[in-house]
Amino acid sequence: KLVSKKWKAKPTSVDLGDGVFIKDGEMAIITGPCSIESEEQIRKVVAHCVENGMTMMRGGVFKPRTSPYAFRGMGIEGLELWHSIAAPAGIKIVTEVMQPSQIEAMYPYVDIYQVGARNSQNFNLLDELGKVDKAVMIKRGISGTIEELLQSAEYVFAGGNEKLILCERGIRTYERASRNTLDLNAIPILKAKSHLPVIVDPSHGIGIRAYVPQMALAGVMSGADGIIYESHEVPEKAYSDGQQTLDFAQSARLASWIRESFAMR
Ligand code: PEP
Ligand code: MN
Repeated sequence: KLVSKKWKAKPTSVDLGDGVFIKDGEMAIITGPCSIESEEQIRKVVAHCVENGMTMMRGGVFKPRTSPYAFRGMGIEGLELWHSIAAPAGIKIVTEVMQPSQIEAMYPYVDIYQVGARNSQNFNLLDELGKVDKAVMIKRGISGTIEELLQSAEYVFAGGNEKLILCERGIRTYERASRNTLDLNAIPILKAKSHLPVIVDPSHGIGIRAYVPQMALAGVMSGADGIIYESHEVPEKAYSDGQQTLDFAQSARLASWIRESFAMR
């Protein structure tokens, strides 16, 4: 496989421009709300990122929701608005693409196309992202194996796009005490099998706000190249995933803990 270490021993460095990288030997910190909600919210999260030295912000404008009646995102207008605020502040945008037809419209505004867990094996979407010259982060499927995640990455890489990032975000198991079961085992295994950077999402991984920091730090110590977690000024009022979202004080503390832990690794 092209994404295997056997094919390429040197770790892949994903260059997002302006000196921002996701790569082996660095610790990427990506934070932001589950959903982009309003101009005011965007401004607050951008300011939070800038104040804490974070250069990448996450947020969904196309949301895959279990219920069709739940908030499904601000769409392309929300992304355009977000970009108009984030780009001048030097903040890179990480956001989910749900279908091939959205790729082109999103292109001017996005820095990393996120493939969500539910689309991890949407092979037509992966084929199309293989033709794009911007970074792609693929989340592990809800019941996806490590091998399946690597095969999904193979679609994009084989299509010609080598700016790829893998993300462990928890898998569905028999355990219901947590939203998902964060598979920390996947981190060293993916790092050993592939030259691609690996990041961990403790927010979706455990789904419980109070335990997100510990799982983030466990991810750092497992050898991850970055952490992506949800934050919001008032998590209780978030349009989605508030129960697993940190407030800004918790997020600032976690970011510094991540950096300290990484320095000790
Ligand atoms: C998200 O990042 O908000 C999200 C929907 O993630 P996942 O695809 O991992 O569920
Ligand atoms: Mn979410």
